[in-house]
Amino acid sequence: MSAPDVGDDERRLVDEVLRSGRLSMGPMLARFEEEFAACAGVPHAVGVSSGTAGLHLGMIAAGVGDGDLVVTSPFSFVASANAILYERGIPVFVDIDPETLALDAGRAAEAVESLARRLPDRGRWLPRGARVSPGTLRAVVPVHVFGRPAEIDGLAAAARAHGVALVEDACEAVGARTGGRPVGTAGDAGVFAFYPNKQMTTGEGGMLVTAHATWDELFRSLRNQGRDGDARWLHHVRLGFNYRLDEMSAAVGLAQLRRLDALLAGRRAVASAYDARLKSVAGVSPLSAPGPRVEKSWFVYVVRLDPAIDRSRLMERLEARGVPTRPYFSPIHLQPFYRDRFGFEPGDFPHTEEAARRLLALPFHAGLAEDDLDYVCGCLADESARARDSAA
Ligand SMILES: *Cc1c(COP(=O)(O)O)cnc(C)c1O
Repeated sequence: MSAPDVGDDERRLVDEVLRSGRLSMGPMLARFEEEFAACAGVPHAVGVSSGTAGLHLGMIAAGVGDGDLVVTSPFSFVASANAILYERGIPVFVDIDPETLALDAGRAAEAVESLARRLPDRGRWLPRGARVSPGTLRAVVPVHVFGRPAEIDGLAAAARAHGVALVEDACEAVGARTGGRPVGTAGDAGVFAFYPNKQMTTGEGGMLVTAHATWDELFRSLRNQGRDGDARWLHHVRLGFNYRLDEMSAAVGLAQLRRLDALLAGRRAVASAYDARLKSVAGVSPLSAPGPRVEKSWFVYVVRLDPAIDRSRLMERLEARGVPTRPYFSPIHLQPFYRDRFGFEPGDFPHTEEAARRLLALPFHAGLAEDDLDYVCGCLADESARARDSAA
């Protein structure tokens, strides 16, 4: 499905770390953070042990506590909502725009307005299990799904107007831009992730970016067991975590960051090659391209299947021919523990559920050669025709 692209640059920097004897809290992390901040055009970048850890710290900085509300998308990886639950907050899901797959920004801004001003209709935005005594709206967490920058200017303005934090989940979108502005920099904080299937990797790891000096300090303290700025060894001023990014991971990340343009170009080329081949495959459509001011960073290659195609059958047949595929995503609100805890039901977010039924991720990484793509698309053409017949 995916494969990291690591080479000699990564090996050289990891070797430098191993020879230095400093395996954590050393100069490599500082270099990685500095260069990442420069790339994103923000004053502060803080390395953490995963994207999930970054989202968690974002929720703490936003002030999320017991019963507080956070507006976010149900069409995402489960971590974007779990981070809210870690601080005992309540996720307020708003359905997506079926075309862009991102939070419907107009509806999300309406939700922000209603919840922040505690309007009489606010109950309709809340999960069934949280309608009795809703807390305070603290944050909005839009997700840049599959590397396509979400349109969030209106949402950012609504959040700002009501003193609600904007924390962007940019875990799938490193390098993506809108009107030249990198994703993750429109609000209070942005979170990136470097798991091996992402556009750049550190093995496990993540990065927070922010323009607030106070948030930068808070993140550095929280990731390091709640030590304060001078980081005295056994002096803890708040409840913290071990969310540090070690030096070997930072070395891999720094080498990847320096090659990021090439890594993204490789993925873009494979995506275009897929687009071209799929023109002749009936019932299988590439996702729509974003507008001209928007630069997507390719995370996964996802297609939309005609409703007449039986997706599970198609996946089985492709698997049998050596082509792995994944349904992407499975809605967060329908995960068993979200249903148990908040009372979500099928039908709550129809666009999200429809996307989850019809989308399919194909094998995708820069190492796929022309004949790999011919093979995948050939199998897809045969098997989607058959899966359609069997569904009819
Ligand atoms: C990958 C991902 C995360 C989490 O990143 P990890 O580094 O795996 O913890 C969060 N949100 C989204 C949308 C992701 O794709």
